[in-house]
Amino acid sequence: MISLEGRKALITGGSRGIGKATSLLFARAGSDVAINYLSQRQAAEEVKEGISNLDQECMVFKADISQKSDVILMVEKILERWDGIDILVNNAGIWTYGEMGDMSEEIWAETMRINLDGVFHACSAVVPSMKEKKKGWIINVSSTAAVRGEAFHSHYAASKGALVSLTKSLAVELAPFGIRVNCVAPGWVDTDMCAEVFKNADFRRGVQESIPLGRIPPPEDVAGPILFLASDLARHITGEVLNVNGGSVLCS
Ligand code: NAP
Repeated sequence: MISLEGRKALITGGSRGIGKATSLLFARAGSDVAINYLSQRQAAEEVKEGISNLDQECMVFKADISQKSDVILMVEKILERWDGIDILVNNAGIWTYGEMGDMSEEIWAETMRINLDGVFHACSAVVPSMKEKKKGWIINVSSTAAVRGEAFHSHYAASKGALVSLTKSLAVELAPFGIRVNCVAPGWVDTDMCAEVFKNADFRRGVQESIPLGRIPPPEDVAGPILFLASDLARHITGEVLNVNGGSVLCS
């Protein structure tokens, strides 16, 4: 029932985790997909192969989203081949540890450059062509940390909180152009991002028990809500934060 037939999507950080699951699901729904990666070329190529097996086109770019020039070049190359980008999923991000007082300026700045500036660069590069076509879908991947905060990850939480206000601002600014801007806010997800902390079995069990639905979801459980927000079923939704956290944080 959900179809992205004929649509073209750019999914940042599509090589692994939530971005990978979203890329493959979008392709299953009939969309062509462009993805970028930072260092994991092989993983990105495997996603491309998976998408090709679904008879959809996939373009792969090595592009650091924190670098404006990388993002501009990538979007230019996409627009040389496609007549537009219908859907932008701002997914690429990092999650590092930072204790206030000890956290270096570089740790703080790195998170802001990737998690926030990267989204700005991608929106800046893609929105003009969406405006021209008078349609578009932007989905930003935020986090429960945005609304609840996260001790020892205040830089991460601040970057994700900014994505919520960016989403709401752009939703109103771009609505006259038929562009919908929404956010998903996942809780814990079983991806490489959390692999290190989940090595501690007690910690993992504690996380699982803190989630009312009692499970740590695979990335596919976030890809589904992203697909919904990129579909016509969500045509009257903009400026929304869709929590995907098994009931663990009930505010937005
Ligand atoms: P992941 O498995 O670590 O994958 C991160 C992806 O982002 C990879 O594709 C990586 O590329 C890419 N990336 C990182 N820095 C980049 C940069 N500077 N330029 C371009 N690409 C870059 O992470 P994930 O768990 O799927 O997370 C995806 C998003 O969900 C992030 O925004 C994260 O904050 C958010 N999120 C995750 C969780 C969770 O529990 N996992 C919870 C809430 C929100 P390479 O493959 O080349 O490294």
